[in-house]
Amino acid sequence: MEFKGQVAVITGGARGIGKTIAEALAKKGVNIVIADISSEQAQGTAAEMEKLGVKSSGVGIDVSKSEEVAKVFGEIAKDYGKIDILVNNAGITRDGLIMRMKEEDWDAVININLKSVFLCSKEAVKVMAKQRYGRIINISSVVAFMGNPGQANYSASKAGIVGLTKTTAKEYASRGITANAVAPGFITTAMTEALPENVKEDMKRAIPLGRFGTTDDVANAVVFLASSEAGYITGQVIHVNGGMYM
Ligand code: NAP
Repeated sequence: MEFKGQVAVITGGARGIGKTIAEALAKKGVNIVIADISSEQAQGTAAEMEKLGVKSSGVGIDVSKSEEVAKVFGEIAKDYGKIDILVNNAGITRDGLIMRMKEEDWDAVININLKSVFLCSKEAVKVMAKQRYGRIINISSVVAFMGNPGQANYSASKAGIVGLTKTTAKEYASRGITANAVAPGFITTAMTEALPENVKEDMKRAIPLGRFGTTDDVANAVVFLASSEAGYITGQVIHVNGGMYM
């Protein structure tokens, strides 16, 4: 896979899955913009990417705010001259059963997880359409397909991403832009590590491959979809869940 000199923007890339995606792309020679809510953390991660030999910068952005998104993407286009890859990865949870879920928690999750994908894609396609090339990869979730008690807002936001991905794919295919989603299952993070051992064992029993996923498992799928070799794949969802949903 040949990526050298390409430019990727990764939202929520300062830590977690987004950071692993950034590392995986940087190792392929992709210049990396980390766009995260904390500019300090974004800059810290960008400094780590530069050690991998690519140009990188970290910018503070709230991806749910249209003015901030327009400003930051305008600056990226100016500084880097292009945007080849956009990974819409920033996401939050505000869990609670529907009866008890506060309207503000519904709105926050929908705005940060779903509206952000619309706002960032809208800015990125302006640049990508001119280039006649682009790869948009949106991070959904297995709960978009299975539902999950306590995650009405989160599962709706992640299911919304799937519809948005398919529409983006249809609107921009003629401009050489593909749009796909990756839907991770249970991925090992600080949060899942902290669960009691018996709870983890129960969760693993629901996964045919018998283990939680790693951030590398997700990044591998993203790198493939970002490559030119994936050029005939658009509007699809790649499930990275060990078989827990198929
Ligand atoms: P994470 O560790 O919490 O990382 C998310 C990043 O997004 C953080 O750096 C966070 O900053 C940033 N962020 C939050 N709100 C933002 C905003 N308004 N604007 C810009 N950046 C913002 O999460 P993760 O576990 O790596 O998950 C990454 C993506 O994968 C998410 O979309 C998540 O829904 C999805 N996913 C995760 C799993 C899993 O098992 N972990 C499974 C399926 C799907 P702060 O930390 O400073 O708030």
